[in-house]
Amino acid sequence: MKRIISIAAVCIYAAILLTGCNAEPRSYGIFCFDTYITLTLYQTDGTHTDADIFGECRELLTTLDHNLSAHTDSGELSEINAGAYTSPVKVSADTYGLIKRCVELSRLTDGAFDITLGEISRLWDFSSDDPSPPDNDTLKALAGQRNYENIALNDKDCTVAFTKDGFSLDLGAAAKGYALGLLKERIKSLGVSSAVIDFGGNIQTIGACPPGAEYYSVAVSVDETNAAIGRLRIGEMCVSTSNASRRYFEYEGERYHHIIDPFTAYPAKSDIKSATVLCEDGLIADALSTAFFVMGSDKAIALCDSLYGVEAVLTLNDNSVRLSNGAREIFYE
Ligand code: AMP
Ligand code: MG
Repeated sequence: MKRIISIAAVCIYAAILLTGCNAEPRSYGIFCFDTYITLTLYQTDGTHTDADIFGECRELLTTLDHNLSAHTDSGELSEINAGAYTSPVKVSADTYGLIKRCVELSRLTDGAFDITLGEISRLWDFSSDDPSPPDNDTLKALAGQRNYENIALNDKDCTVAFTKDGFSLDLGAAAKGYALGLLKERIKSLGVSSAVIDFGGNIQTIGACPPGAEYYSVAVSVDETNAAIGRLRIGEMCVSTSNASRRYFEYEGERYHHIIDPFTAYPAKSDIKSATVLCEDGLIADALSTAFFVMGSDKAIALCDSLYGVEAVLTLNDNSVRLSNGAREIFYE
C-alpha cells in the first residue's frame, strides 16, 4: 500500500509542475536485439537535440547487443560461452554485475528463470527459417541441471568461470530489461524528463507522467492480437510481459513457443497465458516475467507478494486475471 501512495503522490506533484507544457511527442525507431524498439520523447530540457539523444541510445543498444548476445564472435557473452570452462573469462564490471544478479534471480525463482539454458535455446533455435523440435533424448539429458550453481564468480577480478562442462549462458530473458534500466539513466542524464521506451514486450516509462497527465497509462496486452485486457496507472516504472505469442513455430500441428521450462527443456506449460511484471528495476521485471510464466500463478503470486516493489498482472489460460496485492490498486479494465 505504501508503494502505491508514494507513486500517486509523485504523479500529482509532477502534473502540477508540468501544467501548460504540452510539447508534441516525437517517436524514433531502431532495430536491435532482434527486436523493434521505439523511443517516444515527451519532454526534454533542450540541452541536447533529439538526434543526439537518439544517437546515444542507438550507440548504447548496439554495444549491449554485441556484448550480451550469444550469437556474436567477439562479444563478452560469446567469450564466456566459448572459454569459461577452460579458464576464467574476464569481463567488464557491468557485464559481470549483470551475470551476478542473474544468478541471484535464478536462485530466487528456484531455477524457473535460468540463465544457463544456452544449449537448450540453441537446440530449439526459434530464429531458424525451418525450425523443428529437437531430439527428445538430447533435451531430457539437458533438463533440470540448475547449472547456475556451476558458475564461479570472482568479484575482485570480474571473472566468470564454469565449474562443469556442457552448458552455456543465454541472457534473452533479462537483457532487454537490463538495457532499459541503462537507457533510462542515459537519457535522463541528457535532459529527458518524460519519455517512453517500448522494447518488444518491455515498456520503460521515464519521469512521473507525460506532460499534462497525472500518471502513465500503460496497456497490458497478452497475445498477438495486441488488444488491451486492461491498463496500469503508473509513474516511472519498467513493465515486462512474457508470453507464448512473442516467438514460436508450428510443427505438425503443434505450437512450440520460446519460454522454456528448465526442468523439462520443453516450452513451459503452466496455467498462465501471459505474465506482466512491474518493477522500478528493469532487470528484475524482465527476469521475473519469464520466471512467473514458467512457475504458474500460485507460486508466482506467492513469490511476487513476498517481494518489495514488484507487482504482477497474470492472465490465465481461461482469460481470467490474477493480480498481486499491490497491482489491485493500479490495474483497471
Ligand atoms: P522473455 O521474452 O523475457 O520471457 O524471454 C524469453 C527468452 O529468454 C527466450 O527467447 C530464451 O532466449 C530465454 N529463455 C527461455 N526460457 C527461459 C527461462 N526459463 N529462463 C531464462 N531464460 C529463458
Ligand atoms: Mg524476461
